[in-house]
Amino acid sequence: MPRSQPTPTFITEIPLQVNPVEEQVLLVRLEAGRQLYNACLGEALKRVRLMRQSKAHARARKMPPGKERTRAFNVVNQEFHYSEYALHAYATRIRHSWIGEHIDSNTAQTLATRAFKASQRLLFGRAKRVRFKGKNQMDSLEGKTNKQGIRWAKGSFVWGDLKLSPLLKSNDPVILHGLNSRIKYVRLVRRKYNGKNRFYAQLVNEGKPLQKPSNSIGTDTIGLDLGPSTIAIVGSQEARLSLFAAELGDKTRQVRRLQRQIDRQRRANNPQNYNPNGTIKPGKKQWHKSQRQRRTETRLANIHRRLAAHRKSLHGRMANDILRQGHTIKTEKLSYRAFQKCFGKSVGLRAPGSFVSRLKQKAENAGGRLEEFPTRTTALSQTCHCGRREKKSLSQRVHQCRCGVVAQRDLYSAFLARFVEGEEQLLSIKQAQKVWSEGAERLLGSAWQQALINSQLNGRVPSSFGKLSELERVAPNVLVEATESPNVVPRVGGESGKGCEC
Ligand SMILES: [Zn+2]
Repeated sequence: MPRSQPTPTFITEIPLQVNPVEEQVLLVRLEAGRQLYNACLGEALKRVRLMRQSKAHARARKMPPGKERTRAFNVVNQEFHYSEYALHAYATRIRHSWIGEHIDSNTAQTLATRAFKASQRLLFGRAKRVRFKGKNQMDSLEGKTNKQGIRWAKGSFVWGDLKLSPLLKSNDPVILHGLNSRIKYVRLVRRKYNGKNRFYAQLVNEGKPLQKPSNSIGTDTIGLDLGPSTIAIVGSQEARLSLFAAELGDKTRQVRRLQRQIDRQRRANNPQNYNPNGTIKPGKKQWHKSQRQRRTETRLANIHRRLAAHRKSLHGRMANDILRQGHTIKTEKLSYRAFQKCFGKSVGLRAPGSFVSRLKQKAENAGGRLEEFPTRTTALSQTCHCGRREKKSLSQRVHQCRCGVVAQRDLYSAFLARFVEGEEQLLSIKQAQKVWSEGAERLLGSAWQQALINSQLNGRVPSSFGKLSELERVAPNVLVEATESPNVVPRVGGESGKGCEC
């Protein structure tokens, strides 16, 4: 049975104090866990292979979807002992070896479950291949309950004869909240920093994470428009247009340089694995790594880790900013995959998808919600609140309708998103018209102007913001007296208007 998690869950991470002797014990256990995992994965894949070769499986596949088909598959699964439960039994057998001295039965079961789920991804076509864990690549092990095996007891991380104290600087309210909440189970996590191991306990808690009092929550309804590198936020009193996690872009050059360096080093260390034309030879190969290459890889891993941490904090801050305005958020559901196809690196780096799910989680924790509606039906970027619909190319940064409505495109989409309502998730044009005439026009205009001035001061005006001259030309009536002289020539950034309709 899969571990069901019907109750809300949050994770509290606690760094652990580990001396060299304890570190050795943990490393041996991680290694034992790795071998157990690989054994379970190998066995699961073997069973999948045999099952797929069987006639019964082929017959089941040809059946029309429905209960009959499910039943047929269940029979095949049973015949080939392909189930989470059967794999648990297999893990138990493996534990009758040296592995059993290092891995308790609960931890073994969670490892078997992990392997089973990985094999399922392959079986259901959700993954092209699954990976066995290489040496030193097992970075986490988890218990099943907080009663046996890996657990948290009396203020310490406990696993068998190992008892580790938390490494706490002060009474961190976030950690205290986790310690005071019910613990479902505990996970041990190892991270490598500069070639050194750090260990953490992750308490998988029941309930909701602590809402820090400084993050007060607003009650407004917020429209959100998320582009590959921009974000527009529109409420009833406040509107903003800014770059989305722009700070992350500065590191890309360094990352690419290190990646090229590693590639050169790999080639220099393994000339036997390459064809004269520079392509990699097919088949099984041995790869040698020089000390130098290892050092470069560590440097790259460190940058990736810092980037991930930076992204997380930027996302968190942005989400809190939005929630301060309002906890009901409406936005168009973006196809991040299509997004990625068009904008590639920018999207992977800024991870708008994970931002939206984080924002959703935070909004729900605060008693609000995030509604996503399909682009196809609403088509906000092509709609005007006078009722006209006009297809725009992506390079058109300004919404300028024959009815006289003018606004920056992303801000305008965010504005309209606020009025998508009801079961059918349709745009309430009446509402939008009313609010527009009551001051939204001015609100969006000044947000646009502010975004342009701010980005000019930062020396980087993304092309999606449009230009100040454009703003002055099309909407002189919304211009606010600027305190900073805006007559600096905008330096347009590298993001040119691609002709892609995402
Ligand atoms: Zn119009």
